Parts: sequence; C-alpha cells; structure tokens
Amino acid sequence: MSRHTASLAQPRPTHTVEDYLMSMYVMERDYGEIIAARLAEMLDVAPATVAMTLKRMERDTWITGTGRKAIHLTDTGRAAAFSVTRRHMLTEWLLVKILKVPISLTHDEAHGIEHAISPQLEERMREVLGDPQVCPHGNPFPGCEAAVAAWIPLTKLQAGETVIIRRIHEFAEDNQDILKFLVENEVIPGSHARIVEILPFNQTLTISINGKPLTLGFPVAHFVFAEQEKGSPDQSSGLR
Ligand SMILES: [Zn+2]
Ligand SMILES: [Zn+2]
Repeated sequence: MSRHTASLAQPRPTHTVEDYLMSMYVMERDYGEIIAARLAEMLDVAPATVAMTLKRMERDTWITGTGRKAIHLTDTGRAAAFSVTRRHMLTEWLLVKILKVPISLTHDEAHGIEHAISPQLEERMREVLGDPQVCPHGNPFPGCEAAVAAWIPLTKLQAGETVIIRRIHEFAEDNQDILKFLVENEVIPGSHARIVEILPFNQTLTISINGKPLTLGFPVAHFVFAEQEKGSPDQSSGLR
C-alpha cells in the first residue's frame, strides 16, 4: 500500500522498547554510538533496569554489543526506531495543529499515543499534516537530517548576530523543566533573537528574544539551534 507499510520484518516492539529505540536513534545519530549510562539518565531509569532491558533487546535482535562498550542498532532496530520516531513527531503535529495543544506539552502527550498508531494511520497523518520534515520543536524526521544542517547552536554564534530560533534539540525536549522554561520565554521555533553577550568564563549567554533580555547557561543554550538572519551585522560588516 505505501512505502512504509511493510517495512518491519518483526512484530512491533513493546512500548518500553519503542521508548528506548527512539532515544537510541538520537544518540547514535549525534554521538555515533549508544552509551548505556547516558540512556539511563535520559530515560530516567535505574542503570540496572537499563542493563536488563538492553539484554532483552539484544536477544530480540534490536541491538548488538551490550557486552561491550559501544551498543549499536541493528538494521531491524533502526527501522523500528525510525518508525516510532516518525509516529511520535506526526502525533506532535496532530496535537499542535488540530488540537491546539501548546508545544510545551506535546512531547509528553505524544509519548502516550505514538505506540498505538498503525502504518495506515501514520500514512494518513503524513498526508493530512503536509509531509513535515521536522517536528514542532524543529527536530528532523529520520532521513530528513539535511533540513536542519544549517542551524547552529546558540553557543556557536557571535555577539551582535541576529537569528531566528529554529530548533529545541530532542534531549531538551525530553526534559520538562528545560522545555517549559524555553517555551515560557518564547525561545521557540520562529522567534527572532539577537545575541547580546557571550561569557565563556561564566558559561552564560544573553540573548534578546522578541525584544526581551534572557540569560541562558551553556548546557541549555547548546540545545537551542538558530538560523542566522541575512544581513546580520556579523556577516555584512566584513570584519571577519
Ligand atoms: Zn518529542
Ligand atoms: Zn518534537
């Protein structure tokens, strides 16, 4: 029926395994490998529980390498990770566009719904929602990574540059405190910002967001990506 309908050779993984697979996909994409300790942090689960789940996932051929340091997704595991990530992101759009749920809440709400979506429904959602390339927080659908390649973390910008906020990274999306703080302060895709001051010795950065000053620590600012605006003084001054 569609290019996605019969893509999985195995039965669909359990909800828990799907949650693991989604985090693993992001970790492998950004760090080149999956680290069990970081997974425990991200999923907010005890390391012993993670170790047990990883053993089961290796037995069921979603991953390889649990006995060694570097864990990787198998081809089947990656296909399943892509599938649940797509369903998660489409659900977020459904919540934002149709149900008008604020983007501080869509990530957690989508986690409860994404597992129940059939391939047929996924295809329908994709059509109705206009085949998006990124989720409402600006994170790329699997295979659409090129769509976000030009967006730069705030920590890599220079004072004086003007930007449009484009992306709140998955790791920040997953932290309700960070996500709520960013949304409340309008650090969301589409907002205009100017880099006012960067203080590396203090690990802080001050931006002017929609005209209001806001200071962020590097650990959070690192997860916010922006597009440089054309005509930004830093690009046109010819000083570098
Ligand atoms: Zn999400
Ligand atoms: Zn999202």
